[in-house]
Amino acid sequence: GEKLEVNINALVDEYLRLSYHGLRAKDKTFNADFVTELDSTLPKVKIIRQDMGRVFLNLINNAFFAVNEKRIKHASNGYKPQVKISSRMIGESPDHNQVEISIADNGSGIPENIKEKIFQPFFTTKATGQGTGLGLSLSYDIIKAHGGEIRVESKEGEGTEFMIRLPLV
Ligand code: ADP
Ligand code: MG
Repeated sequence: GEKLEVNINALVDEYLRLSYHGLRAKDKTFNADFVTELDSTLPKVKIIRQDMGRVFLNLINNAFFAVNEKRIKHASNGYKPQVKISSRMIGESPDHNQVEISIADNGSGIPENIKEKIFQPFFTTKATGQGTGLGLSLSYDIIKAHGGEIRVESKEGEGTEFMIRLPLV
């Protein structure tokens, strides 16, 4: 792949819909709100589109999986599954030097004792056939190859937020 100037907002939006409809096609009971808060003034970012697309698709799939897992557990508790994606610029205005993309869910959350393992290749808590455990390790490598950073904040039972920062050149 080649690095091109890409509209990150459009890419995120595309993969959000793709992921949602893909999951609905597999499981008719699947349902979740997805919300975007994208900064429309975000400049284009130089990325390998296909690679960054895989990162977003994996993070979004993970988020929908986590809300679905919680929905199944809390079937009658009025739980409203939600995945929210936001983008913003970071750094002193007008010389912003990074963009931040956040993928947040109110799903099952990540237990404290496995938080440091989730970026390891083949680490998964999913049943056989539901996950390879490669998504986050691959995402980590792709973000690093773009000179960026990825970090996570999560609370078991409450939800998870992944934050990606990419340099603006
Ligand atoms: P996979 O999705 O195939 O399991 P990943 O590398 O994408 O592999 O994720 C590794 C593990 O990290 C998951 O199995 C899960 O335990 C945890 N995880 C990732 N994203 C989330 C999330 N949004 N909410 C809760 N747990 C998550
Ligand atoms: Mg995954």
